[in-house]
Amino acid sequence: MPPALRLSPAQLEKIIEHARSCKPEEACGILAGDFEGNVQRVFCMENAEHSSVFYTMDSSEQFRVFDDIRREELEIVAIFHSHPHSPALPSMQDMELAFYPESVYLIISLMDDMPECHAYSIVEGQSEEVEITVVEE
Ligand SMILES: [Zn+2]
Repeated sequence: MPPALRLSPAQLEKIIEHARSCKPEEACGILAGDFEGNVQRVFCMENAEHSSVFYTMDSSEQFRVFDDIRREELEIVAIFHSHPHSPALPSMQDMELAFYPESVYLIISLMDDMPECHAYSIVEGQSEEVEITVVEE
């Protein structure tokens, strides 16, 4: 099945709000939902690097989130992070560290006043844009 990303305006707002609150550091998190890419839960997470150009999830927080997702019988739909000062394109590092080929990678750029979001499927060093559909639940 081709990857897809469908979320509600409120979920998108929550992600952008998290990205803004972490600026100038990169923000990160996980979107959980079903196999069709419908997001049901937004997990805003801490960037353990506290860096403006790089992120890693805190391993114990990541463990807790994965556990929640499993218990709620959801799937990992997407991994998101922000680019405080650059466009919403995967960096070299984002490509190299894309360890979840089934997941969508959502990037939020805060470079301009208006946040810009793009989603990608990254498999074996190749990225392909995935359409983001914003729909009311
Ligand atoms: Zn990045």
